[in-house]
Amino acid sequence: MPALDATHDPARRSHVEDANLPDCDFPIQNLPYGAFSLDGGAVRVGVAIGSRILDLTLLEAEGLLRPGDNDGAVKVFQSGVLNPFMALEQSRWTDTRRRIADLLDAGADLPSAVRALIDRALVPRAAARMHLPFYARGFTDFYASREHATNVGTMFRGADNALMPNWLHIPVGYNARASTVVVSGTDIRRPLGQLRGPEDAAPRLAPSRKLDFELELGAVVGGANPMGQPVTVAAAYDMIFGYVLLNDWSARDIQVWEYQPLGPFQAKVFGTSVSPWVVTRDALEPFRVATPPRETPLLPYLSETAPGNFDIHLEVALSPRDGGETVISRTNSRFMYYSAAQQLAHHSLCGCAMETGDLLGSGTVSGPPRDSCGSLLELTWNGRDPIEVDGGARTFLEDGDTVVLRGYCADGYRVGFGVCAGTILPAPSAAEFGGEE
Ligand code: CA
Repeated sequence: MPALDATHDPARRSHVEDANLPDCDFPIQNLPYGAFSLDGGAVRVGVAIGSRILDLTLLEAEGLLRPGDNDGAVKVFQSGVLNPFMALEQSRWTDTRRRIADLLDAGADLPSAVRALIDRALVPRAAARMHLPFYARGFTDFYASREHATNVGTMFRGADNALMPNWLHIPVGYNARASTVVVSGTDIRRPLGQLRGPEDAAPRLAPSRKLDFELELGAVVGGANPMGQPVTVAAAYDMIFGYVLLNDWSARDIQVWEYQPLGPFQAKVFGTSVSPWVVTRDALEPFRVATPPRETPLLPYLSETAPGNFDIHLEVALSPRDGGETVISRTNSRFMYYSAAQQLAHHSLCGCAMETGDLLGSGTVSGPPRDSCGSLLELTWNGRDPIEVDGGARTFLEDGDTVVLRGYCADGYRVGFGVCAGTILPAPSAAEFGGEE
């Protein structure tokens, strides 16, 4: 298990001066990894520090960083994705973090040539285009918020059948699509789907009219387990490289018609947005909190010997095309009934191989009050109670709406996730497929 070390020292300061501002998402204690390009050039790997990105592709090429092995022969930052780095031994993740922190420390005593190289490697974040930071090998979406599961179950099946009997025993999930996992800033096209409302005699093809977001935390798997070999919760915790904000865009009218008996399909696979910076499990270590008390005991393979959740403040904002931004939900990931480590351990129990680059969605993060729900389905109670935003009332998303997720941990300094944003584009022509516009 990773421990707290000098990289978590709240008193530490960086020579990148705006990284030391109290509300900065990316101080020297954070050091999240991402993939970026400048002026249409090749995609590079970097670490966010204040308003800058430290170009790790350059530092590795110049031999200043040797994350792959001690003599610098194995290169892991040269392919534009984090997967080669995430596939390394976990001790190398921690060693690399310590090395980067030492290079960015305000008190670092560095030879002038090294200092000049670091200055050259610090590029403005505002000038960079961000890319999907990892190749998404697979995407599994879970359902770990008791409040969300209860709210959705009540709307879809009635209060008496809201929480299915397995829910308090199994981290419920389904295999989603990795191919449509996209980086923040990528537009999302409203999906066409087969719809059948309560008054419809037969289903029809039309654009979704109940397009929604889902506020989630995404766990990015670094370490792998061989097929046939389950992992413990403790090992699963260590296998997770880091976390991103995740918006699991959802079409509720498609979902309600298609989801029985095999679960969501078309309603969830048209786009999933993730934030561009992967906040490492190392950086989150000071913010670990226990999962909530168990209502019924879990089977021993799911029990946690150390806190597996994180105290991450989360919020959702909505910006219509012709309006300003309105924060419509504030919540916290600490309330999730199952941690990502429990979900990963359960995922591997049958012998399923988890691989570098696998992405696990936490499930929508909803808290008990209505204004802490992580979806419009819940915030508007399936459209019954519109909410007011700057620029109009909303039940579900309109074309041109932008949804922005934010998240951060705070304890004297912030470990921030930046933003995860996406804008809704109009649906493709339904008439071309024999449907209704
Ligand atoms: Ca989801």
